[in-house]
Amino acid sequence: MGTRRQYFDEPIVRIGIEDARFPRMCPICGADAEHAARISASPHKIENPRYATRKKSRLMSNGTKTLMVYVCDEHYQSDEGQGNSRVACTLGSGLMVAMLLFAIMIAGGDIWSGRPVNYVFYAIVFLFSVVLIFSFFAFRPGPLASSIKVIGFDLGFRNIWLQFKRADYRERFVEENAMKVELVRWIAKL
Ligand SMILES: [Zn+2]
Repeated sequence: MGTRRQYFDEPIVRIGIEDARFPRMCPICGADAEHAARISASPHKIENPRYATRKKSRLMSNGTKTLMVYVCDEHYQSDEGQGNSRVACTLGSGLMVAMLLFAIMIAGGDIWSGRPVNYVFYAIVFLFSVVLIFSFFAFRPGPLASSIKVIGFDLGFRNIWLQFKRADYRERFVEENAMKVELVRWIAKL
């Protein structure tokens, strides 16, 4: 089986998942940070096809790991807001799917009996598209998720590979986790 290597222009870090201590610095803007925020690192993110089949059940039983990071005032607010809009979009699209099915049934009845399709049908289709567009934006990875990317885990779920967007954040992280952290320029994918 061939091994693929993935190279990184800026080094990424490897650290024991239980050891990682995140600096009190906002990973998005670099300001002082005092609000604890969560990043969930789920085993689904493993891109290794070998893990995906045979080892999956074992990895899944470990569940999702949560990393506690610190973010500044401003970015803490925006992260919370995004969570709320995701809930709203999930509820909204559920409701819209039900309405759309109902509208299609009624429009079908109209067409079948030769009547013009009621304008309510078009209104519902329009609303449905609007909810879809909002959902797309609400579910994009937020600024926090894109400032600290979980690249992967090892098999035992003991080590984690993280990519930081800000070089100064990475330096702080390495400083505060000295002896436990390793800088890596590439990873092997089996
Ligand atoms: Zn910030």
